[in-house]
Amino acid sequence: MNIALIAHDKKKDDLVQFVTAYQATFSNHTLYATGTTGLRISEATGLNVHRFQSGPLGGDQEIGAMIAKNQMDAVFFFRDPLTAQPHEPDVTALVRLCDVYSIPLATNMGSAELLIRGLEQGMLEWRNIAKRNSGDENGNKIV
Ligand code: PGA
Repeated sequence: MNIALIAHDKKKDDLVQFVTAYQATFSNHTLYATGTTGLRISEATGLNVHRFQSGPLGGDQEIGAMIAKNQMDAVFFFRDPLTAQPHEPDVTALVRLCDVYSIPLATNMGSAELLIRGLEQGMLEWRNIAKRNSGDENGNKIV
């Protein structure tokens, strides 16, 4: 599965802690992240993380593009609800695309626990079917 990892600055410690706790699970998947989040996670865990731009510089939109192409299977996005973000429109757009494409999205530690356990138990296998039905082997839509 392709998994996106994003955390706002005040939530980065939480996400690093979370990925560290479930490192064995995450190591079985392909990880993508916004720039700083990805750096923090790879430094802390040694996991291989494909890093996009930093969120405020377009990283959220790059992840959104993967969602729009049906190439992202789950998103862990630890948002900071108490701090204004300069790229709030991008944040809203990313969450919206998850809803458009029914992509599982965890925006806090509580829902992240459920999502990762669901992933471990194979509850996201429908994503493989969805990808097969919607396009080529890379998940690209055939229109
Ligand atoms: P960052 O971006 O990982 O580069 O800090 C996250 C965000 O704020 O969207």
